[in-house]
Amino acid sequence: MKPNEISLNTLLSDNKIAFSDEELGEDHIATSIDTPLRADAFELSDDEKIEKIQEHFREIMLTLGLDLNDDSLKGTPRRVAKMYVKEIFSGLNPENYPSATLFDNKYRYQEMLVERDIQFYSNCEHHFVPIMGKAHVAYISSGKVIGLSKLNRLVQHFAKRPQVQERMTVQIARELQRVLGTEDVAIVVDARHLCVSMRGIEDPTSSTVTSFYGGKFEEESKKQEFLKYLQL
Ligand SMILES: [Zn+2]
Repeated sequence: MKPNEISLNTLLSDNKIAFSDEELGEDHIATSIDTPLRADAFELSDDEKIEKIQEHFREIMLTLGLDLNDDSLKGTPRRVAKMYVKEIFSGLNPENYPSATLFDNKYRYQEMLVERDIQFYSNCEHHFVPIMGKAHVAYISSGKVIGLSKLNRLVQHFAKRPQVQERMTVQIARELQRVLGTEDVAIVVDARHLCVSMRGIEDPTSSTVTSFYGGKFEEESKKQEFLKYLQL
């Protein structure tokens, strides 16, 4: 699948299509492939961010009418703030980028390598509720190979951001292409979005599939071989 962000982005900038903020979010449309970050995104330290988010989250809870003197609730603003910065949105910070060691392809293995069922948890950037699913990643070595766990770590890194599934798919694929020095990368992501199941349309069973096929994977035979492995 071609990343539909590109065409939509063009359409948006040409002003041919106008979405309201609400529509854009409900339809889960991304406006760019890069995560939209502010220029000053990393001027605050993690600890300063936790302090700030804690205060704001406390305000949200108070506004909802919750009594923060209750023993069960009083630690929640800090817990949420730490979880945002140190865990579920830690992939925003380039400092947390997983180092990827490359090895020479000593075995001269020239077929595709497929890593299936990489479980990930992300969050929808339109509703801030979980997206969870599996990524299946493949590449054909151009002479370098990557440690298998690094494939998982790269998926997790991009998952740990507020995301749109199409963007996450393209971000992982492009990063793999860059790291491995090859266009020959494919990825299929199959995920459930809690913003679709627990609210809104309230569909508990649907899942969303996105994909990216680069280089040799654009050939029908390679694409089919990859998809066949995913059915095993
Ligand atoms: Zn959503």
